[in-house]
Amino acid sequence: MKTLIEPFKIKSVEHIPMTTESDREKYLKDADYNTFSLRSDYVTLDYLTDSGTTAMSSRQWAQVMDGDESYAGSKSYYKFEKILQEITGFKYIIPTHQGRAAERILFGVIGDKTKVVPNNTHFDTTRGNLEFLGVEAVDLPTAIGINPEIEADFKGNIDIDALKNLIEKVGADRIPIVMITVTNNSGGGQPVSMENIRETKKLVSQYGIPLFLDCCRFAENCYFIKQREAGYQDKTIKEIAQEMFSYADGCTMSAKKDGLSNTGGFIGLNNDDWAEKAKVILIVTEGFVTYGGLARRDLEALAVGFEEVLDENYLRYRVGQVKMLGDLITGEGVPILVPTGGHAVYLDAKRFAPHIEPKYFPGQAISCAIYIKGGIRSVEIGSVMFGKTDENGNHIAPNMELVRLAIPRRVYTKSHIEYTAEAIIEVFKEKDKLRKMKITYEAPFLRHFTAKFDYI
Ligand SMILES: *Cc1c(COP(=O)(O)O)cnc(C)c1O
Repeated sequence: MKTLIEPFKIKSVEHIPMTTESDREKYLKDADYNTFSLRSDYVTLDYLTDSGTTAMSSRQWAQVMDGDESYAGSKSYYKFEKILQEITGFKYIIPTHQGRAAERILFGVIGDKTKVVPNNTHFDTTRGNLEFLGVEAVDLPTAIGINPEIEADFKGNIDIDALKNLIEKVGADRIPIVMITVTNNSGGGQPVSMENIRETKKLVSQYGIPLFLDCCRFAENCYFIKQREAGYQDKTIKEIAQEMFSYADGCTMSAKKDGLSNTGGFIGLNNDDWAEKAKVILIVTEGFVTYGGLARRDLEALAVGFEEVLDENYLRYRVGQVKMLGDLITGEGVPILVPTGGHAVYLDAKRFAPHIEPKYFPGQAISCAIYIKGGIRSVEIGSVMFGKTDENGNHIAPNMELVRLAIPRRVYTKSHIEYTAEAIIEVFKEKDKLRKMKITYEAPFLRHFTAKFDYI
């Protein structure tokens, strides 16, 4: 059968807000044209993020009831530890309340001002946690990885030659770990090949540098490997994940993604000394080693989530749903970053609204128009998020001007996706009406969260 179906049925429903176009014009104006400032009860379909927005299964909810809320030695922790040890092979599984806490603790163990940490592309919290300690965070994507118009299988790969040059230049003693983010979130949710991970491991081993995975979307990445990389077609997702983790010396994870839950994270480690140090920071800042800032019922939900995410029927639907949205809109000529990745569709605002220069925020204009058209929330990833102004007041634009629609896991149905595509296509047909925007207020850091906008 060719039709992609949701591999679940609905047991409990959550009503979504239905609003009119004139309501939405008012709501957006009141939010100063910033989608982060919209109340969620004014949003019909919410693609702001796929983080922590997952629908849990009835099995997960059943296990939540069975959570053992003991402070120390909870049986819920041992379930969580067992499934993660099975998948990752790491000796230590240290729970945290979300991904950035795992990063903060790991970097607190290994980082100082003299250090450099390379990655295919650092996620913003990873970069933030490194820079907070004075560590230099270096991105090493491949050339095709930063070109939105090139179709390729593994655009998330790290540039191994560039990595070798960097190690030679700064010296292995200044690089405590090398990281690879699977899938490469900031690079469009693009997968990393097993070969790239294996070759990276080979290289860094020669210098005695450990390899760490930022493995928020490890299962989605493994599904792409199974689909696209020779030699993996007959392996299970779990086997592929086990091989992938076998090349790593540790990992950090936001379980709000492929943990199929609403909160959680962990650090995986083999190094005894680092694990001891991480546990000290954990106890001081997150909680005891058998809960790490989480309710034990969350660990129960995660233990089931980590099993469910390995299900190939689920992953086929998951990756297929993202592709479906991409296909529906590209079929009508809407320009997007290709190919679609594991968790989101990115509209290419430069080609979508070429009449709006980056300094007038084309992505923001598109994101606002899609909200007004269909009550759909997306987020600009371009000049608003990463643009800078030089000393002469000139705008310095980032490489790409994108609008991201991140799809929550197991939340929306095929008709929701069709409705979303319809709204985007309508906006695209009327793209000449999109207007230039300006920022009327911005905070000194991470301005996109709280900026205010208006039309020019
Ligand atoms: C979400 C994310 C993080 C941070 O995790 P939080 O749970 O939001 O703190 C780190 N790395 C990547 C690749 C992510 O997608």
